[in-house]
Amino acid sequence: MNPMRIAFIGLGQMGTPMVRHLLAADCQVSGFDLSSALIEQLTGPSNFKASKSARDAASGASLCILMLPNSDAVENVLWDADGGIAAGLTPDQTIIDMGSSDPFRSQSNAQRLAAQGVKFVDAPVSGGVKRALDATLSIMIGGNEDTVRQVFPVLELMGKYLTHLGGPGAGHAVKALNNYVSASGLVATCEALTAAKAFGLDPQAVNQVFNTSSGKNNTTEVKVEKFMLSGAYDSGFSLGLMRKDVKTALDFIQNLQTPGVMAAACLEVWADAEQGLPKGADHTAMHQFLQKSE
Ligand code: NAD
Repeated sequence: MNPMRIAFIGLGQMGTPMVRHLLAADCQVSGFDLSSALIEQLTGPSNFKASKSARDAASGASLCILMLPNSDAVENVLWDADGGIAAGLTPDQTIIDMGSSDPFRSQSNAQRLAAQGVKFVDAPVSGGVKRALDATLSIMIGGNEDTVRQVFPVLELMGKYLTHLGGPGAGHAVKALNNYVSASGLVATCEALTAAKAFGLDPQAVNQVFNTSSGKNNTTEVKVEKFMLSGAYDSGFSLGLMRKDVKTALDFIQNLQTPGVMAAACLEVWADAEQGLPKGADHTAMHQFLQKSE
């Protein structure tokens, strides 16, 4: 049995498959989520402990991985006066924030944790549920050299393309920018396919041309046929989370006072779609939304 004890907080679409890889590598995992049903579905292996609270999960764990929706949830888990884990952390412990959090807020979390001797690494991921299941995620890492070296073997259990980009917050910065690029490509693709259809063209044929031409992108290659034209709209990444990521990128750009006209327009489209689609809609339903508003 791998002696490493890992707390894992946030057992949603991504967290659950990631925990399964840690369990398969014989790590001892104490898991917690606000949803007890999600904790239950992981119970069974003797190296998984179902925890009653985030504090319970973090107690005695050398690493504490957070796979939460956003920085609000991260700060709640860390600093909440009534149950936040930071109060009980000791200098031998490391927090790894693997969700797509706000880079400036992550820097502040890193500083506050450092003040009590606790280490922090941001290690957000890209690749979606499919690559979480395959353990082939791309992982963008921020943190100091020594700490990153220490946690690297654990991250390798969940991902295949690991890049250490800089100090705390660097991983979250690149993740937000990556998702802005991905989100704008998705909107452009859906707008193009909607116009093509209105012109009487077959969207599938058009997308195939994109895929052998310069319009090719992650949406045309991975999402159009499988999740959009099929009508499935079930990639496992919610539209609300994508809207959050574009907002994080726009805030980041505005904070740095670099050009962001396109990012602002992109956020508007995602916010409109979130308003216009049912709560919890998948991000690929942007296609459905734009077709309806045609
Ligand atoms: P999800 O909504 O499926 O899971 C998040 C989980 O966090 C939920 O189960 C929720 O109950 C839990 N949670 C929220 N607040 C909590 C708290 N205070 N204490 C304990 N648990 C809490 O989301 P997801 O799709 O797994 O995404 C997680 C993170 O990864 C997000 O930041 C997202 O942007 C990012 N991400 C998602 C994907 C994807 O394809 N789904 C891909 C890359 C990155």
